[in-house]
Amino acid sequence: MSVINVTRSSMPDFEEYCAEIRELWDSHWLTNMGVKHRTLEAQLQSYLGCEYLTLFTNGHLALENVIEAFDLHGEIITTPFTFASTTHAIVRCGCTPVFCDIDPESFTMDPGKIEALITENTVAILPVHVYGNLCDVDAIDAIAKKHGLPVIYDAAHAFAVERNGVSAANFGDAAMFSFHATKVFNTIEGGAVCVRNAQMLQRLCDLKNFGIHGPESTPFVGGNAKMNEFCAAMGICNLRHLDGEIEKRRAVAERYDAALSGVPGLRINRVPAGVRFNYAYYPVVFDGCKYSRDEVFDLLAEKDIIARKYFYPLTNAFECYHGRHGFDPAATPVAAHIADRVLTLPMYADLSPEVVDTICETILR
Ligand SMILES: *Cc1c(COP(=O)(O)O)cnc(C)c1O
Repeated sequence: MSVINVTRSSMPDFEEYCAEIRELWDSHWLTNMGVKHRTLEAQLQSYLGCEYLTLFTNGHLALENVIEAFDLHGEIITTPFTFASTTHAIVRCGCTPVFCDIDPESFTMDPGKIEALITENTVAILPVHVYGNLCDVDAIDAIAKKHGLPVIYDAAHAFAVERNGVSAANFGDAAMFSFHATKVFNTIEGGAVCVRNAQMLQRLCDLKNFGIHGPESTPFVGGNAKMNEFCAAMGICNLRHLDGEIEKRRAVAERYDAALSGVPGLRINRVPAGVRFNYAYYPVVFDGCKYSRDEVFDLLAEKDIIARKYFYPLTNAFECYHGRHGFDPAATPVAAHIADRVLTLPMYADLSPEVVDTICETILR
């Protein structure tokens, strides 16, 4: 058996991609909102049911641009149980992250702990739909409305996730998606932001193109965060097969569930009723069983099965933030507890049932 990595990028057939990029050789139009960019944007608007969507180079720049677009300066309430990008985007935009603890079941921000963190300097709430688990969007929305704060969701994990027919694109004032190679839907590198009105959409479109609005008008100090035509073409191809890929991921998740549910000291992810899930990740929490998470990780690695300690360490424990006021994993004890015990197991559409069985047997032994 060769090495099994935690994920494997979805790709169309080589011929399908070649056919998609053929016209780029005819037109010589390689980037700057060409035909592939426009086509993918329209397809994603329709797939996600979100009228105001624009593409970016990657999810991280999408997040930085949306923080800039909302003109935020101050404290942003967020979670430390996330990828580096979420916290770094806040800091790189000159804002201060204020870390809220998480709910131990969904791994998302605990809405019961948000209000105690709101001060006169709070300017926004930036939660993450961790592993595709939707945040308690109703509770967060109520708190945000009460205090007049915008909500920006890091929906990097939540592409194609819906609750009662409403996609993750439509919660909050903005939602950011990542189309990185390792995500459920990929454009090699890429991302998108969904917002609620044409004015905010226009601002994002200007910001990602150097702040240029027209040939003789540059109202913003923007950077460059445009998606190129080759990445958009990859997205067009991958989107055609996405629903089938998610179905295959669901079968993998169900095979894991059958083997691992009900095992004492081991907790698996539960999908709530009414949710269309994307099976992006397969997290398992080792809490009170004979072996620790780190021991299971090592046992799997001995068999060339590479799981991932995701998310460990917490972002508020990163060494780049040592000594910074407010960056203290002890202040988010539930997140710290989970970060020490969670492992995401290999999960991708073509993961074979035999490998899933080997992984489960190794864990159960
Ligand atoms: C992947 C990811 C990002 C960043 O997206 P990129 O497209 O890799 O820049 C941000 N937040 C979370 C939670 C992610 O998993």
